[in-house]
Amino acid sequence: MDLTYSPADETFRGEVRAWLEENLAGEFAGLRGKGGPGREHEAFDERVAWDRHLAAAGWTCLGWPVEHGGRGLSLLQQVIFHEEYAKADAPARVSHIGEELLGPTLIAFGTDEQMRRFLPGIRDVSELWCQGYSEPGAGSDLASVATRARRDASTADWVIDGQKVWTSLAHVADWCFVVARTEPGSRRHAGLSYLLVPMDQDGVEVRPIEQLTGTSEFNEVFFDGARTEGSMVVGEPGEGWKVAMGTLGFERGVSTIGQQVGFARELEGVVAMARENGAIEDPLVRDKLVRARMGLEVMRLNALRTLSGFSTGSEGPEASISKLVWAGWHRGLGELAMEVAGASSLVAAGAPYDLDQFQRLFLFSRADTIYGGSDEIQRNIISERVLGLPREPKP
Ligand SMILES: Cc1cc2nc3c(=O)[nH]c(=O)nc-3n(C[C@H](O)[C@H](O)[C@H](O)COP(=O)(O)OP(=O)(O)OC[C@H]3O[C@@H](n4cnc5c(N)ncnc54)[C@H](O)[C@@H]3O)c2cc1C
Repeated sequence: MDLTYSPADETFRGEVRAWLEENLAGEFAGLRGKGGPGREHEAFDERVAWDRHLAAAGWTCLGWPVEHGGRGLSLLQQVIFHEEYAKADAPARVSHIGEELLGPTLIAFGTDEQMRRFLPGIRDVSELWCQGYSEPGAGSDLASVATRARRDASTADWVIDGQKVWTSLAHVADWCFVVARTEPGSRRHAGLSYLLVPMDQDGVEVRPIEQLTGTSEFNEVFFDGARTEGSMVVGEPGEGWKVAMGTLGFERGVSTIGQQVGFARELEGVVAMARENGAIEDPLVRDKLVRARMGLEVMRLNALRTLSGFSTGSEGPEASISKLVWAGWHRGLGELAMEVAGASSLVAAGAPYDLDQFQRLFLFSRADTIYGGSDEIQRNIISERVLGLPREPKP
């Protein structure tokens, strides 16, 4: 595998680096390192302004085709952008759900009218989106979705009743893409539709859920006679499963390398703490820190191997292990941070949730092995689809 970048890619890298250096200044200077999992509440409005600033300069929707308002960049250039973005410690994006999930879904499955209506608002960050898949009885087993939608005979609107849960950023979203059962009596994957639902209406109630970190990034969302126009269905009514799976397929990991730059920074922080408080003198701690560093390098090489497969059009089995490996590694890093911090890790600086970065890392990383496909589900996928082992018995 050739791991060198072409001169054109290096020129692009220089362009990205220079732009970030020049623009993460003035009113945006204080945004470095802000936001991200467990810290979405940080400088939220300022990060929206930053995302809009990025958009105005053409740094959003990098992989979307040019005819749909994107930059049409190669996969490698997108990777370079994310890598430089993370190295600059630029703030976590607020508009990623629209940009990375819904936008590509509309480009693949939406009507021209839906694309005209929604893509510009995603691109310029004037409309934020959330993902309404999970329900109290439908998480890993998404086909158990029970939220219902029916057509109003007089207006042809969709009328939606039911409940979603764990809906990230629903409290700030303008719209939600909702998987709902639209054929009464249908079961499992059949009879579902993929609806685009405005959040600002009487029939939608958002109740924040407080997390271990004391912050509320995800929510319960209740639909009680909520409405959306008849044209707001993506794909054919009743064929929402195909669209919903399409959305999940767009999480293809161009930001993985950037994510690892962030992980490396967190590990450096843990090493610095160990030097400072003397924990580094313990050979067992040193051994764990070295193992964490090695794990990071393994992830980096696996990401490069995965991406080189994407660029040649053959997505290999290595893509399947990526989520499993990074989630376990990151959760382990949170545990190691607590071990290095020692007894002081048990005490918050102020009551009740004035947590330092390591306590927050430890608590929020418990979620890593759950969202985006839990560890157990990832193992099932690897065993059944990659290794060809017998399928899990279904009761
Ligand atoms: C931080 C965070 C953000 C999220 N954001 C969103 C969002 O924006 N939108 C959204 O729709 N959802 C979101 N989710 C929900 C997430 O997709 C679900 O939590 C996830 O799919 C697991 O579903 P569940 O919580 O219902 O657990 P369950 O599916 O009930 O699983 C419970 C346990 O059983 C295990 N299990 C389940 N099935 C099997 C099986 N077949 N074999 C072996 N073990 C199994 C699981 O691995 C898990 O350990 C978010 C979750 C988190 C933690």
